[in-house]
Amino acid sequence: MSALPVYKPGRNPADLAREIGVPRAVKLASNEVAFPPLPAVVRAIADTAGETNRYPDNGAGVLTAALAARYDVDPAQIATGCGAVMLCQQLAQAYADPGTSMAFAWRSFEMYPLLAQVAGARAVQVPLVPGVQGGPADTHDLGALLAAIDDTTRVVFVCNPNNPTGTAVRRAELERFLDAVPASTLVVLDEAYREFVTDPEVPDGIELMRGRPNVAVLRTFSKAWGLAGLRVGYLIAEDPAVAEAVRKTHVPFSVSMLAQAAAVAALASEDEVVARVAEVTAERTRLSGELRRRGHAVADSQANFVWLPVGEQAAGLAAALEARAVITRPFAGEGVRVTVGTPEEDDVFLAALDAVTAATSAA
Ligand SMILES: *Cc1c(COP(=O)(O)O)cnc(C)c1O
Repeated sequence: MSALPVYKPGRNPADLAREIGVPRAVKLASNEVAFPPLPAVVRAIADTAGETNRYPDNGAGVLTAALAARYDVDPAQIATGCGAVMLCQQLAQAYADPGTSMAFAWRSFEMYPLLAQVAGARAVQVPLVPGVQGGPADTHDLGALLAAIDDTTRVVFVCNPNNPTGTAVRRAELERFLDAVPASTLVVLDEAYREFVTDPEVPDGIELMRGRPNVAVLRTFSKAWGLAGLRVGYLIAEDPAVAEAVRKTHVPFSVSMLAQAAAVAALASEDEVVARVAEVTAERTRLSGELRRRGHAVADSQANFVWLPVGEQAAGLAAALEARAVITRPFAGEGVRVTVGTPEEDDVFLAALDAVTAATSAA
């Protein structure tokens, strides 16, 4: 177990502010939304608080029914979990064994290699390719991912939009890929950022899944829906047997009563969520433009973060930003992921970036 890499969460802004002696640090590291929980969510949590001496509904029946109605699927096609990361782990437990493999693009969500390792399966990592000619490696190579699948491959993850590059694969190429993947390999479309997609050519995985029994979609309440602190995600599979396999590895009661109530209230407030998402995507456009104006080759992001492909400067840049009270997420040797914050937060980030650039060119 000591060989396992440790998952690194974003730094706590209060700790950083204290350490460097400033009133407040800005955290743009974990792709949360900056808005406080919706009023209906806060009410639902308060209303439920008085019942928390009891165990939650292990099957999350009310939430599952609400999800089934919202996405027009049968409740038997759904598994809920303590965050989508727990569902990823359950998928690995249900499908991967020593001698099998899990395939995914790299760089992508940092949980995927960990999952394979914990399951004792081989992680097959297929490099991203440049999204634009001569540009950084920032998008899926579905042809190479398909070629990497063999008869040991139990699960393929396609993170769409991809974390941390923000790029998304479009309908035609994804359909071609799904049509070609062998029926014995489960394709998991990780759509943690689906709600932020504005490109009409980027397909909704739940629609693509229909009629394809080896496809499942992962979604979460942590990002657009604003419930990162409550831990609730879900899987929707075309084949109920996939959802059942995932449910069988569920740690009992791991989706808390408060999380279930909050998620149901959030779903019922979808109009407000959509309005907030529109603010985030408008700010994403502004932030991307500001970064491009500064000479950064920022790809069109379909998520609530942008990717600075700064290569070898990634760790140094993130450390220099942190010294100026801005927490971002570096991937050493590759780039820095920056969550789209409020316009005010993003201006603090841009000013810090300008200061770092000025200090670097003066040195
Ligand atoms: C954030 C994220 C998740 C899931 O997050 P949870 O908080 O565990 O629901 C899943 N996949 C990707 C790619 C993510 O970025």
